[in-house]
Amino acid sequence: MGSGAASADVVVVGAGPAGLACAQDLAAAGLRVRVLEAADAVGGRMRTDVREGFRLDRGFQVFNTGYPQVRRRLRASSLDLRRFTPGFLLVGSRGRFRFADPLRRPTQAADLLPGRLAPLRDTVALGLVSARDRVLPARVLRAERDVPTVQALRSAELSPGTVDQVLRPFLAGVFLEDALVTSSRVFHLYWRSLMRGTIGLPARGIGAVPQALAAALPPGTVTLDTAVAELTDTGVRTADGGEVPARAVVVATDATAAEVLLPGLPVPALRAVTTLYHVAVRSPLREPTLLVDSDRQLLNSVVLSEVVPECAPAGTALISTSVLGTDVDEPSVRARLAELYGCDTAGWQPLAEYRIPGALPAMPAPHPLTRSCRWAPGRYVCGDHRATGSVQGALASGARAAREVLADLRPA
Ligand SMILES: Cc1cc2nc3c(=O)[nH]c(=O)nc-3n(C[C@H](O)[C@H](O)[C@H](O)COP(=O)(O)OP(=O)(O)OC[C@H]3O[C@@H](n4cnc5c(N)ncnc54)[C@H](O)[C@@H]3O)c2cc1C
Repeated sequence: MGSGAASADVVVVGAGPAGLACAQDLAAAGLRVRVLEAADAVGGRMRTDVREGFRLDRGFQVFNTGYPQVRRRLRASSLDLRRFTPGFLLVGSRGRFRFADPLRRPTQAADLLPGRLAPLRDTVALGLVSARDRVLPARVLRAERDVPTVQALRSAELSPGTVDQVLRPFLAGVFLEDALVTSSRVFHLYWRSLMRGTIGLPARGIGAVPQALAAALPPGTVTLDTAVAELTDTGVRTADGGEVPARAVVVATDATAAEVLLPGLPVPALRAVTTLYHVAVRSPLREPTLLVDSDRQLLNSVVLSEVVPECAPAGTALISTSVLGTDVDEPSVRARLAELYGCDTAGWQPLAEYRIPGALPAMPAPHPLTRSCRWAPGRYVCGDHRATGSVQGALASGARAAREVLADLRPA
């Protein structure tokens, strides 16, 4: 990944999932592509740090094999995927319940029996929503009326109690907002991928995903430590004053950085999250299962070393906990973790905190699931903010940018 001033057919700005997918498709079509990345590694928001022998993702995220773009570009086997238990544990003032998929884990689905987690009519309503989302073609879900998720759940005959106590706490950790104003189309497509795929994490952390995408590019495609300062009439100018000529430029940064390069570009509201890592000498939950706070003081927590044993040195447990927003007080989080895990957390060692103000673009209904990447002649923009806030959205937007560039550079 050495630097250099060689020209290219296309310069892609940013080596997050969107830029890497775009570059992959352009290179596969025979174009000379250069990806210029400001940071010292590929990945964008999907990166993993190593600290004191622990592997720490920059914010808790999961890898979902059910996403169509993920299936197209990545093989779970090449990522050494470690799997979560399907479903989650819901813990809080009402008690501890297991939300399990009765089709995958029938023996763990006892809490779905009427009267435990939810009344019978809610269990039936949720079963119908799930069955529908699982079997209907994605194009049908994409074409449905778009309303806030909370409204869609109510229309599906789910009671306010079940929405508030079961679905809202879980979905808040997915959308990074707990009013559930996020588009119902985004919700149904996410729910579908959840039921059709597997949730896991690569053995080397989430950063292994963009690394696998980058490894599929021709050698020398990506240049690191190279921020693009502006787009010029002939290509781009980098922050160190270098010029890279190109016939087309694709801006594949996050929305805020994209607006600097493409003034006037709409920037969505951003969802913020903080992930805290703690080290314990003993695992407080001996299973690879997401724990969700039903009282919504925290979003969720997981003993990461139960999911990915490679992420922590032997004899230690690594706990990852996420909280909505960036105004987070570690001692209060640790006190809440004591209640959720039912153990003393006073001896847990705080290892790291990642405060991420721009983790996801907001996707309030109505939300277009995909947007054209054409911005001006020779200038394109892609990223999760042009589709949906997920690796699926980022990859799909990168693929769309590549299609549009190819159509424009090679007119029929
Ligand atoms: C905490 C957290 C949890 C998440 N959880 C999930 C999850 O569970 N499932 C899921 O599917 N998605 C999740 N996501 C979302 C997912 O990570 C993003 O949607 C995806 O990474 C967006 O990819 P992107 O390529 O659009 O942008 P980015 O990943 O932001 O990449 C943009 C790149 O552009 C580079 N750049 C910026 N400016 C310049 C410049 N001037 N010159 C050159 N390079 C530049 C940046 O350094 C960066 O590498 C999560 C995100 C976060 C932060």
